[in-house]
Amino acid sequence: MNFPSKLIEDAVNEMAKLPGIGKKTALRLVLFLLKSDESLTEGLTEALTNMREGVSYCRKCFNIADKELCMICESNMREKQIICVVESTADVLAIENTGQYTGLYHVLGGVISPIEGIGPSDIRIDALLERIRDDSEISEIILALNATMEADTTAFYITKKLRPMGVKVSSIARGVPVGGELEYTDEITLGRSIVSRVSYE
Ligand SMILES: [Zn+2]
Repeated sequence: MNFPSKLIEDAVNEMAKLPGIGKKTALRLVLFLLKSDESLTEGLTEALTNMREGVSYCRKCFNIADKELCMICESNMREKQIICVVESTADVLAIENTGQYTGLYHVLGGVISPIEGIGPSDIRIDALLERIRDDSEISEIILALNATMEADTTAFYITKKLRPMGVKVSSIARGVPVGGELEYTDEITLGRSIVSRVSYE
């Protein structure tokens, strides 16, 4: 791709580092920003900088939060006895968008992957076990992990740890495509998977 200016080339290259944005789209966005009012670029830059500096993680579930607890943990409208275990914040958003789930979450921040050197202690499994131990109200854990081999290993490990704790463990039904990622599954399929979850053996 030929660029009329080094400044534009730099902006395009940075923009194209974002997922789902190719060089062509990046160029279109950059040219759009260039011809728009300067306040748009300023607003965008400020919002992104504030987000990076201000956002933190919920001390209970590790979802993204503006305060110590996230909006979901803080809400009185949620069922406090169910925890849905997911890999990432993007999965929380995907499940929230189905409108089918009213319990709490626990964000692992990854899955066990021996190849990548990620063991059980590198993701937030201990914090999950601690939550269940500290709160006798919690009676059900739903594993909503991606359909990958690493996620299956993780689900197996967590289930083994949970068994002696006397909580019901279920896994979302596999309407989620094998090898697919939750965040890209359509809302209806994902919603149905949560409703018709299967007990974990
Ligand atoms: Zn939370």
